[in-house]
Amino acid sequence: MVVAYNHAQRAKTSVYADALEQYNRAVNYLNIDDALIDFMRYPRREFTVNFPVRRDNGSVEMFTGYRVHHSTVLGPSKGGIRYSLAVDLDEVRALAMWMTWKCALVGLPYGGAKGGVVVDPKKMSQGELERLTRRYAAELIPLISPHADIPAPDMGTNGQTMAWFMDTYSMTVGYSVPAIVTGKPVIIGGSQGRVEATGRGTIVVMIEALKGRSWWKSIPGETRLIVQGFGNVGANAAEYAQTLGFKIVGVSDVSGGVYNPDGLDIHSLREYVDRNGTLEGSDFGESVSNEELLALPCDVLIPAAMEGQITRHNAHLVKAKMIVEGANGPTTPEADDILNDMGVFVVPDILANAGGVVVSYFEWVQDLQSFFWDTEEVFRQLQRKMAQSYYATESTADKHKVPMRIAAQILAIRRVADALKTRGFYP
Ligand code: NAD
Repeated sequence: MVVAYNHAQRAKTSVYADALEQYNRAVNYLNIDDALIDFMRYPRREFTVNFPVRRDNGSVEMFTGYRVHHSTVLGPSKGGIRYSLAVDLDEVRALAMWMTWKCALVGLPYGGAKGGVVVDPKKMSQGELERLTRRYAAELIPLISPHADIPAPDMGTNGQTMAWFMDTYSMTVGYSVPAIVTGKPVIIGGSQGRVEATGRGTIVVMIEALKGRSWWKSIPGETRLIVQGFGNVGANAAEYAQTLGFKIVGVSDVSGGVYNPDGLDIHSLREYVDRNGTLEGSDFGESVSNEELLALPCDVLIPAAMEGQITRHNAHLVKAKMIVEGANGPTTPEADDILNDMGVFVVPDILANAGGVVVSYFEWVQDLQSFFWDTEEVFRQLQRKMAQSYYATESTADKHKVPMRIAAQILAIRRVADALKTRGFYP
């Protein structure tokens, strides 16, 4: 069945239009009712909130935040909270939809959600960030609970943000509720391994993908990686890859990148970023722009910054033989077509960065049971879930003769559709 594509919607640069186009491409391979297809293209609910925050100088400034629940068909909705000036409803809506497919793909009992506040967190003091987070959390209370919607960190937020979030919710209900968020510090009910989980999971699926490529000689030291984005996902992916012997020849953050064909010392780069806030001014290699970084020679490119980085304007410049998407939505549908024609193997975001939500799920389960696992157990279960999901996607890709992104969406959409059909339309 072919679903008409709304070109008017695509005319505007829209991340949600990209998410819908991916969805439209995948449902062509699924034999499911139009009503089910239509249902799944809409977010279940969208929430916008405008709220005041007192700055350190005593002035009061208004901020806008969002929370979108795309789906609650498979269980409570799950998804991160982003602090960035680029946040808008369109972006949050797309990210929420991708969370639905991601959770379904890796077999978690969750629907998809996402939230965000329009703010540059680097321009706020810790006190201002705490007040902003607490007020945003308070505004979300009607929507969230450990059985309804469970936030987590994303770009611009971290374990401390989640701690303030958890404390605000707990103070409101009158008792401690660790399971209200994941990605918390371990001391308040976080999981071992959650900080490293997304980046580590990205490398786990990269290795599974490499094993299937005829050009890969199984020698990590001869495999050159470039990582765009040096935050939670990018830096942890680069560090884990380096410990396994891979050669990281380029990394970048919002300030630009650094390239060294002999390999970068990721540990020293992380220390530099911890001290200075960004990679800017580091002399570990040649300075390059983000645009240049994506076009540098390497075997595997890991975009781990944000959406819309590989587009129809630069896809043809990519030299990598494989792209493993640490970020959500880094490749537009037009770029996907170009990369496919070039023979570049793309491991899609909903598979490649699912390690974060997998360990978030482990954290939620541990919180609900008040029984905590050691790091070894977390990483063992993460490895198993990521490898299983990789092979399920690859065999779907082989069966339908489609790229991995369409295969991953086919698997995910089919699971949600089956559950929806079984539950039926209320009332
Ligand atoms: P982060 O805030 O920790 O790091 C983001 C990094 O990207 C920073 O180094 C920043 O400087 C860099 N960056 C920002 N804009 C850039 C640009 N235009 N060009 C190059 N670099 C840029 O965020 P994160 O948590 O690592 O998230 C990165 C991506 O991974 C996002 O797409 C996010 O949705 C996705 N993701 C994150 C998680 C998680 O567990 N944190 C899980 C799944 C997916």
